Amino acid sequence: SRRPAANSVIRPDFKFEDLGIGGLDREFSDIFRRAFASRIFPPGLAEKLGIQHVRGILLYGPPGTGKTLIARQIGKMLNARDPKVINGPEVLNKYVGQSEENIRKLFADAEKEQKEKGDESGLHIIIFDELDAVCKQRGSGAGGGTGVGDSVVNQLLSKLDGVDQLNNILLIGMTNRKDMIDEALLRSGRLEVHMEISLPDEAGRQQILKIHTTKMRENGKMASDVDLAELARSTRNFSGAEIAGLVKSASSFALQRHLKGGTVAALKDDVGDMQIRMEDFLGALQEVHPLFGVSEEDLE
Ligand code: ATP
Repeated sequence: SRRPAANSVIRPDFKFEDLGIGGLDREFSDIFRRAFASRIFPPGLAEKLGIQHVRGILLYGPPGTGKTLIARQIGKMLNARDPKVINGPEVLNKYVGQSEENIRKLFADAEKEQKEKGDESGLHIIIFDELDAVCKQRGSGAGGGTGVGDSVVNQLLSKLDGVDQLNNILLIGMTNRKDMIDEALLRSGRLEVHMEISLPDEAGRQQILKIHTTKMRENGKMASDVDLAELARSTRNFSGAEIAGLVKSASSFALQRHLKGGTVAALKDDVGDMQIRMEDFLGALQEVHPLFGVSEEDLE
């Protein structure tokens, strides 16, 4: 079957609500406009306008805020094949030359396909998590003072610059420390679209709570006294990941209560009328606390 051409990859049935990302609609549509507008032009228009596709995005912000989630959903939406996910510390192999080889390999498949199939080769997304681990300012001694970090940055730069003829690669870098990333990497033509993904505000937290309680609500496992608006107010400074943790903790309280009425064996066959109640969420709030960061509300 024919693969979609590199500049008509968007899925026609795309809806933001279906992505399961809470509270980041503005960020998502901004990334979309800045990084993908050129790819959804009718074929040939980008060439006529003399515009090159964006080949790199940097998502930065505190841990657990949905950076990986967004990166993966971008891939789905663009009908790209499953993204390659690579982790900074993993790339930093202690053997001389191996880290550079790892970077080279990352790009090799996409390059090969583009050579063989031209614009029909579809989009390859490479997600690079914890980018700061390998791409610290050169000369800063990243990689344990061995200079390994420097040559990894150089290799990544030469790969990104070398994809001049390649339409089909998109690198999505992620970091909690944008200030640590070598500036050369952040320039135009490289990781040129920068987007901060910060902690969710109250409305965002309510959306995230909704997303992470979808299943239990659909299955009648959430009691009617659970007030998500109230919980959104009580979870200031929580990241999306911490809100997911809160829901998990609340479930464990509900299970514990349910268990008191029977045995584990009985529970295995039948969770029966078990429901997660507001009291379970209040218990969870005593247990799950935000680790990082200051939300925008605190700065007001
Ligand atoms: P890190 O910097 O630690 O890699 P991250 O920003 O990439 O973190 P994710 O891995 O995307 O965070 O988030 C972890 C999990 O938290 C997600 O799989 C999801 O379940 C939940 N989560 C985080 N943010 C959101 C959000 N905005 N909407 C819905 N779920 C979220």
